[in-house]
Amino acid sequence: MELIARWHALTDELNKAAVKLLAVSKYAPDEAVQILIDGGQIHFGESRAQNLRDRASRWPDCEWHMIGPVQKNKAKYVGRHASMWHSCENLETAQAVAKHVRERDGKRPETENSLPVLIQVNIADVPNQHGIRPDDLAEFTTKLMQVDGLQLVGLMCMAPRGGDASQAFRAMRSLRETLMDGSLAGIASLELCMGMSGDYKLAIAEGSTMVRVGSTLFGDWDVRRKT
Ligand SMILES: *Cc1c(COP(=O)(O)O)cnc(C)c1O
Repeated sequence: MELIARWHALTDELNKAAVKLLAVSKYAPDEAVQILIDGGQIHFGESRAQNLRDRASRWPDCEWHMIGPVQKNKAKYVGRHASMWHSCENLETAQAVAKHVRERDGKRPETENSLPVLIQVNIADVPNQHGIRPDDLAEFTTKLMQVDGLQLVGLMCMAPRGGDASQAFRAMRSLRETLMDGSLAGIASLELCMGMSGDYKLAIAEGSTMVRVGSTLFGDWDVRRKT
């Protein structure tokens, strides 16, 4: 199947479930990104801050989502160029990103004045995996909500490698409920960004609102780019 046919099939499937698609373009060449843009795709995910900056500058009418780990010294690329940040897991980095968001909005007063952020959760509490541990989530959330320039809109996770993905996704949903009954009472809804090429169907079954699909969408176009 051609890339555009795969994209149509996937978007049809996701539209039926009212789930949004983040096309993860981190390994896809510009040519493949252009094919999807011509087809109508708007939301793209990148995992490296400089690549996000380059592509957001090249295609400013699309929404560029940061999904990879962010080092504090790359915060400016995220704060200036990201439409949404999915991988927030550190307060100092969040403050650094927020500073660049506030500066960006000073220069472009017509823009939205905060960056939508999701907290990455280490849902299975695996040592050395990215994300906030479930036990620390309430406290982290409270602190993050005080950072001017960021707006908390949801939770993101990756299923534990080799672990039970459905169980992890279910735990995310119940974490969201706990937060919305507790420290986030009053917030009407929170996105659950979960599910990738290998497990997005399971994630949707457990209540995902946004999936991040790279390799099965881009197929042969998905080549590991040099950094
Ligand atoms: C690369 C990546 C994806 C996409 O993975 P695929 O298996 O290629 O669909 C999703 N989320 C994150 C955080 C990623 O780094």
